Amino acid sequence: MHAFDFTVAASADDAVDRAAGGAALLAGGTTLVDLMKLDVLTPRQVVDINALPLRGIAAGRHGLRIGALERMSDVAAHPDVAAGYPVIARALVQSASPQLRNMASIGGNLLQRTRCGYFRDVHTPCNKREPGSGCPAQAGENRGHAVLGTSTSCVATHASDLAVALVALDAWVRLYSRAGDRLVRLVDFYRLPGDTPQLENQLQQGELLTEVVVPALHWSTRSTYVKVRDRASYEFALASAAVALDVRGRRIRQARVAAGGVGTVPWRLRAVERALRGRPLVPESFEAAARSAADGARPLAHNGFKVALVQRTIVRALTEVARGVTA
Ligand code: SF4
Repeated sequence: MHAFDFTVAASADDAVDRAAGGAALLAGGTTLVDLMKLDVLTPRQVVDINALPLRGIAAGRHGLRIGALERMSDVAAHPDVAAGYPVIARALVQSASPQLRNMASIGGNLLQRTRCGYFRDVHTPCNKREPGSGCPAQAGENRGHAVLGTSTSCVATHASDLAVALVALDAWVRLYSRAGDRLVRLVDFYRLPGDTPQLENQLQQGELLTEVVVPALHWSTRSTYVKVRDRASYEFALASAAVALDVRGRRIRQARVAAGGVGTVPWRLRAVERALRGRPLVPESFEAAARSAADGARPLAHNGFKVALVQRTIVRALTEVARGVTA
């Protein structure tokens, strides 16, 4: 690990000033310290922001607000989140390990870097880590890589389960800088890799992610997150699905569907949502709608199985929610 200066931010303005100067901001540290140990990140200055007043979980008629420094485990266990937004709670408890969830912050989770093995190995080329050096995953080990939103520059998946749940719920992130606050829809916050895979989101140097805002959705109680992976814990998704259903009688009025583990960004599936609208709450509706989940997919040599897997994962998630409606 490279030598670095370690300081504690005295205020949000202090933090953004230091970030503007190139300092890395430390919250839970579960991504940053990991990548510093591997020499993937080599900041000269690390600024601890844990004392900043970016805490709080507030649910009400306005929706849900989560301070960026709240820990994953605390958010998952919060009664208002567990009861009102099960898709968020379930995405969180299926992430990482209990020890990591106790440390990792909500803001850090949304800003985490990809798990592509080439990105984390400084002895191999990687366009995301070193622009223009190449993407060995295209012809190499790509079983866990993306089939949606890829480019010739990068095919890495986005790693956050929470982000998939929040994209399904139309959440926003609040970003603070010396210029003031701005709110960005999470679905717009993440950037497709295109020719610049090193630019992963809309956060500018000198900005701080301070809060997650989930708009009120009275049917968010009928939601879930299903994650399919190689082992049952401490593993990233091969495919995942966040779904919420608004049901009247035995008919679907509205639906929210997003997928993880298959896209270079959390993947909102509006075509699947449209296909569910107005349909009866039966397995045939779920299967028909899920058929469009991988439209536009570009499978690589080893990850073609994800096309069928994401469709089945969505059907399973919809079936779970439907079971709750009829229970
Ligand atoms: Fe790097 Fe992206 Fe290629 Fe992985 S997929 S090696 S992160 S450029």
